[in-house]
Amino acid sequence: MSTETAGKKKLPLAAQIFIALLLAIGAGLLLQSHADFANDYIKPFGTIFLNLVKFIVGPIVLFSIMAGVISMRDIKRVGKIGGMTVLYYFLTTAVATAIGLLVANLFKGGFPALSTESLTYTAAEGSKPMDVLVNIFPSNFLTPITESSMLQVIVMALLIGFAIILLGEKADKAVEGVNRWNDIFMKCMEMILKLSPVGVFCLLCPVVAANGAMIIGSLAKVLLAAYVAYLLHALIVYSATVSTLGGTNPVKFFKGMLPAIMFAFSSASSVGTLPINMNCTNKLGADKEVSSFVLPLGATINMDGTAIYQGVCAIFIASCYGISLTAGQMLTIVLTATLASVGTAGVPGAGMVMLAMVLASVGLPIDGIALVAGVDRIFDMGRTTLNITGDASCAIIVSNLLRKGKKNKA
Ligand code: ASP
Repeated sequence: MSTETAGKKKLPLAAQIFIALLLAIGAGLLLQSHADFANDYIKPFGTIFLNLVKFIVGPIVLFSIMAGVISMRDIKRVGKIGGMTVLYYFLTTAVATAIGLLVANLFKGGFPALSTESLTYTAAEGSKPMDVLVNIFPSNFLTPITESSMLQVIVMALLIGFAIILLGEKADKAVEGVNRWNDIFMKCMEMILKLSPVGVFCLLCPVVAANGAMIIGSLAKVLLAAYVAYLLHALIVYSATVSTLGGTNPVKFFKGMLPAIMFAFSSASSVGTLPINMNCTNKLGADKEVSSFVLPLGATINMDGTAIYQGVCAIFIASCYGISLTAGQMLTIVLTATLASVGTAGVPGAGMVMLAMVLASVGLPIDGIALVAGVDRIFDMGRTTLNITGDASCAIIVSNLLRKGKKNKA
């Protein structure tokens, strides 16, 4: 990467984000004894940036999915792409949980025996598996947007998109309107993304300032287990699927994904990373029609990193309480963690709330969440990174499979 001293050529956004990331780590380490300062005066700018990103995400998901559906002009085609996508998402998430459980079992011997006496954790309400299903369907037109319930926004976008297709020529003006609004919100997003280096710095610096020393503390082993599992999943599963099904060199894939990866790591929000993920994925050769459908869906329902985290934490909490899980319980964890990750919102900290559901499903004490809550953000940065990388791999794969299908037909 070249730094332009003369002339006015700007550093590419990816380089700017990377520099911001390094500066944030440096500044965070220096500010460790002034973590309050970082929290009170640096984090708010990160929050402003994240607010802007959240503001734009609702309209982006709504219009990009509508535009994606309309451009396919055929409900059957939407069903085909949707089917492939959901299948890939479910399979990779189940594999992710299994990898998480496997790695955590390998690390189990090294998990510290923490005192579990004074733990209290109040689980959030409504963490039953069927709630996930019921909550997908909106009961009114506005709340999905005002409350950023992305699954409901997706259902709305699909319904309206289908209606437009079914109306045919009568809805020509609506097609034009949806496409123009999609362009407008994309432009807004581009403007907001220009601020991402500042956002990354202001979000990450307070985290490093507050947690820098703690990482070397007693939770290092479980954090390490989670990160090893995240890495294994990315390097084995995504490399394999992207190269065999996606026809893309894995090195090229991860390299192209770097801006999105760095952004996800700093922001811990899949939904927030959506716009930048779309950019990277399209540059890597995914069809716009596919990525505008697959990525918003993935940012909402596909969370491989979250599933790994839930598997690792279940084993960790069990071993802290001196409980040994049976094979049947492990299988239950794979199933519930896959479901729980579907119900996890793509925002910071959401996966920890859904961990309660996973623990409850195998009778582990929910209070155990308090053991890992202190460093949740560190888990979250890695799991979000994996979550969005999984979404991108799916967009590449589905695009490639569709192209192949077309060629075979011709
Ligand atoms: N922060 C994660 C994401 O946005 C969700 C989670 O907390 O696991 O993907």
